[in-house]
Amino acid sequence: MKKKLLVIGGVILAVLLVCTLLVPRLILLGVRQEKVAEDCNYGDVFFNEYDEVRAHLLEKVSELNAAGIATESESYAIDEADGLYIDTVYVPAQEKKNLIVLTTGVHGIEGYIGSVMLDVFWDEVYPTLDKENTGVLVIANVNPYGMKYHRRYNENNVDLNRNFILDWESFDLASNQNYPKVDDFFGPEKKMGNLFWHEVQFYGGMLGAVLKNDVATITNALTGGQYEYPEGVYYGGLEDQASTVYVKDIFEQTLTGEYENIVHIDVHSGYGPRYNMVIFNSIYDTYTEAESQELFNYDYIIAYDSESFYPTTGDTTDFYYRLWEKLGKQNSLFSTCFEFGTLGDGFLDSVMSMKYTVEENQNHWYPSNNKVTNQVIRERYHEMFYPTEKEWREKTIEDFKAACKGVLDAKLIK
Ligand SMILES: [Zn+2]
Repeated sequence: MKKKLLVIGGVILAVLLVCTLLVPRLILLGVRQEKVAEDCNYGDVFFNEYDEVRAHLLEKVSELNAAGIATESESYAIDEADGLYIDTVYVPAQEKKNLIVLTTGVHGIEGYIGSVMLDVFWDEVYPTLDKENTGVLVIANVNPYGMKYHRRYNENNVDLNRNFILDWESFDLASNQNYPKVDDFFGPEKKMGNLFWHEVQFYGGMLGAVLKNDVATITNALTGGQYEYPEGVYYGGLEDQASTVYVKDIFEQTLTGEYENIVHIDVHSGYGPRYNMVIFNSIYDTYTEAESQELFNYDYIIAYDSESFYPTTGDTTDFYYRLWEKLGKQNSLFSTCFEFGTLGDGFLDSVMSMKYTVEENQNHWYPSNNKVTNQVIRERYHEMFYPTEKEWREKTIEDFKAACKGVLDAKLIK
């Protein structure tokens, strides 16, 4: 009997040892993506570093000017020593009817796909517009720190798309009542070691969190934004961030300026079905999902009445509407978000998205000493916002063009 127990114990130990040694490497192999084929549309502008994106944008400005499109540009320093800038590009219209405002990189790492879409815009959307009466204002790389360091958050761990609060004085910082319930699980204060043991621990903890709170509580706790845990995920800060001050001011200028009609598109990635870009409307937009589908001739819409709509605090589109209202609606406004899905929109995809989000944050505050762990966390996070797969990349371009056509045909004044 004793001998039998010893043999079983030995086998278990051996299996665990093999798992500890092999599983992390297998996971790394799984995370590794095929190399993007060079013949991918726009293949040469899918950059991986902030400096490349920025240099390319400045080149594009020269290109537009050389093509006779008079362009004004400005670089606003967020951190000069670190070379972090928000770049704005403005092409004025003669007759000030429409102004298209494009923002990218509010969530830093999502600025990479945003940058590609700016190229698609200038090359394929802009030439179809009536340039006499339609101006364009691009605010690129709103969160340059997050772009440079491949994070969603900025230099203060603030999620800028939860930081656009109209009035901090009256804003309830404890508005997210679910986050405190799950903070233990979302903000582990320790380094990750071997990936096999980390995975075992994570799924165990996840099961505990799911048993204690239902899945909706957990999802809402995360995505809504929170203002009480500065080292947590989706932290919205306590005051306007440098990027926010700058962008808020530009939004105000557009709402008090000469243009009759403002159409704003904020480009994001990471949420929704993998191969379909979703037009995610603000809660302040009055059209239903069905009405928007017809209006934009585009199937993938999330509107205030959609099942998958979730409310957030402090996002750019809601802010734009609230400021517009505060300033007395002097012109007309449509502000929306283009969201490129990456992992997918099933239950398991949401769990994975949550997992990668928490792990990246943990590894930011408590960097692991384990090389393989670091690599897996980093590469997974990148894939979650900027997939390398050719099919995904080509579809983003098609969807962006179709959605731009739908929105601009419907919302620009002729
Ligand atoms: Zn985003």
